[in-house]
Amino acid sequence: MSTETFNFQAEISQLMSLIVNAVYQNKEIFLRELISNASDALDKIRYQSLTDPSVLDSGKDLKITITPDAANKVLVIRDTGIGMTKADLINNLGTIAKSGTKAFMEMVQETKDASMIGQFGVGFYSAYLVADEVEVISKHNDDEQYIWRSSAGQNFTVTRDTTNEPLGRGTEIRLYLKDDLTDYLEERRIKDIVKKHSEFISYPIHLVYQKEVEREVPVSDDEEVDVDEEKDEDKAKIEEVDDDEDGEKKKKTKKVKENETVDEELNQTKPIWTRNPESIEQSEYNAFYKSLTNDWEDPLAVKHFSVEGQLEFRSILFTPCRAPFDLFEGKKKRNNIKLYVRRVFIMDDCEELIPEWLNFVKGIVDSEDLPLNLSREVLQQNKILKVVRKNLVKKCVDMFSEIAEDKDNFNKFYEAFSKNIKLGIHEDTQNRAKLSEFLRYYSTKSTDEPTSLKDYVTRMPEKQKFIYYITGESRQAVESSPFLEVLKRKGYEVLFLVDPIDEYAVQQLKDYEGKELKSVTKEGLELEDDEDDKKKLEEQKKELEPLCAAVKEILGDKVEKVVATDLISESPCVILTGQFGWSANMERIMRSQALRDSGGMSQYMASKRTLGLQPTHPIIRELKEKVAADKNDKTVRDLVNLMYESSLLASGFALDDPSQFAGRIYRMIKLGLSLDDDAPSAAAAADSDAPALEEVTESNMEEID
Ligand code: ADP
Ligand code: MG
Repeated sequence: MSTETFNFQAEISQLMSLIVNAVYQNKEIFLRELISNASDALDKIRYQSLTDPSVLDSGKDLKITITPDAANKVLVIRDTGIGMTKADLINNLGTIAKSGTKAFMEMVQETKDASMIGQFGVGFYSAYLVADEVEVISKHNDDEQYIWRSSAGQNFTVTRDTTNEPLGRGTEIRLYLKDDLTDYLEERRIKDIVKKHSEFISYPIHLVYQKEVEREVPVSDDEEVDVDEEKDEDKAKIEEVDDDEDGEKKKKTKKVKENETVDEELNQTKPIWTRNPESIEQSEYNAFYKSLTNDWEDPLAVKHFSVEGQLEFRSILFTPCRAPFDLFEGKKKRNNIKLYVRRVFIMDDCEELIPEWLNFVKGIVDSEDLPLNLSREVLQQNKILKVVRKNLVKKCVDMFSEIAEDKDNFNKFYEAFSKNIKLGIHEDTQNRAKLSEFLRYYSTKSTDEPTSLKDYVTRMPEKQKFIYYITGESRQAVESSPFLEVLKRKGYEVLFLVDPIDEYAVQQLKDYEGKELKSVTKEGLELEDDEDDKKKLEEQKKELEPLCAAVKEILGDKVEKVVATDLISESPCVILTGQFGWSANMERIMRSQALRDSGGMSQYMASKRTLGLQPTHPIIRELKEKVAADKNDKTVRDLVNLMYESSLLASGFALDDPSQFAGRIYRMIKLGLSLDDDAPSAAAAADSDAPALEEVTESNMEEID
């Protein structure tokens, strides 16, 4: 049979040379990865057999077998799973790019620890941590038996297998171990690794190995007389054994050392979730979590529970310690919750089981009620599944509350998954209030560590009615915002919402413990609670009306309206946005999204802007005078535009025409330097009838001489 050679996809080839050549910690995880793949393959064939039992005609025994071959330094891992067709071998083991390859390469070079490989979807290649050559022999029901072979490098071969024993169905992986790593052939070592990493695989894992046993065999009369050497004679020694104290006639026996093949089951296949939670150690949950997820760290939290009554199911849910590298990457299918029906694995990509905002929670659900032969169509409108989902969400929220009881753990959790919590607030009406407990923000008063809304409320002065927040690009950007001036003076705390997703979450949250959340950059914020002050403001507003009208006329469509405002004190003016429209920050987010998604800004819609003038500010007062004197004063027009553009910047907006703004600033600088606005620059002078530049310089030099 002819052998075909294929090139590895470029990144995979790089990945393999990285794995083969470097020294990493935790090489032993190759076994976990290969067992995990075997288990996946077994899941697949079992799932197929639910609707078509004949797929098991090629073998009913679903198991994994590890066989060390010490003589040849080969470790063999075999499964009776679904197997791979020739095309599968070519596609799955080398030619199709995997999204996690690059991320894993970066990670492993930095940490020198290979144990996270499974999380990046390239676990198979961990075989090259210990082997310099790998053979994958596979038989799928729909194809002949093939051998995939590679010694890493650029390419691999695929050959129709006519030499090895037929597998029936499944996959056999042969690892030609590196010379210094033959300890992976030792019974003890393999048992330890399986115990540590694969204890909770739900198919039996067998270890088939040779063991030297000593057996006592009676010495025959012939032997006593005849001392001729037999095969095992050199190992055997003849001993006299006292049979009993009576000192009866002594029988002669000898001890013989023989090699025996032992077939031992290594794991406990009774599913951990069926056990009583009280009998389960934390270390067992951790081990189960790791074999379920290929994570290399222990989980942050676990929730093991059962639901009984009209509907019955058991579940174990885990919160990982950190977010995966691709948490919010596109529409990638997540397979975090494995669905079982009466102990039988059904699928690991059931989208109906858990909402997107919980896409980081891992675990299993085992239902007593669902039919075994579930089709995806049935799943979509399945009532049982809806109830399961609701319960899972509730238990997840409980789990997070438990995490929140420990500050360090909660900080870890929040750092990794705050975006998910915020997405949950945006999407999950039912759990919104509960989830809002988990929010943490820096604020004008919480500068060292972020505050919860609960703590915020306890700090509210008695007359403060609302919870105030400002949204923006970064803490630094909002900290110095003019919108905080008055609130700070009044002692009202303002939360800094600087994650883009905050804009979305806060739109839905609306209030916390009955206290409305208010953006300080939007119109309609009334801060004056004192009746006298209110009256005074009304008067000032009235007085400012002519200026407001004039400014509106100058700015035209750039602003919706111009009003007097008491939201600022040190700044002369700010840009407010409509109560229900986009904030400056939202506009920024949408703008960058529009640019990213379509390369244009066609769908991008500007927010409605109101220019707020601070009536008592000296600049405003002066402008008021100037406008009263001459509405068409040219400098007034320039100043108003400049003021508007500066306040856009200070309020977090982008300028539509930065060069026009710069032009105005330069004119102001000239004014500041008392230069004539029309004074020509040297460059401009060069092409006028003024003396040429060189001449001027020359004469200057003469003078210096
Ligand atoms: P992952 O398991 O995350 O998909 P791997 O690199 O571990 O990534 O495996 C790549 C693919 O190779 C698997 O998705 C599977 O399709 C195939 N594969 C690996 N091992 C086996 C096996 N023992 N039986 C069947 N298919 C396998
Ligand atoms: Mg894998």
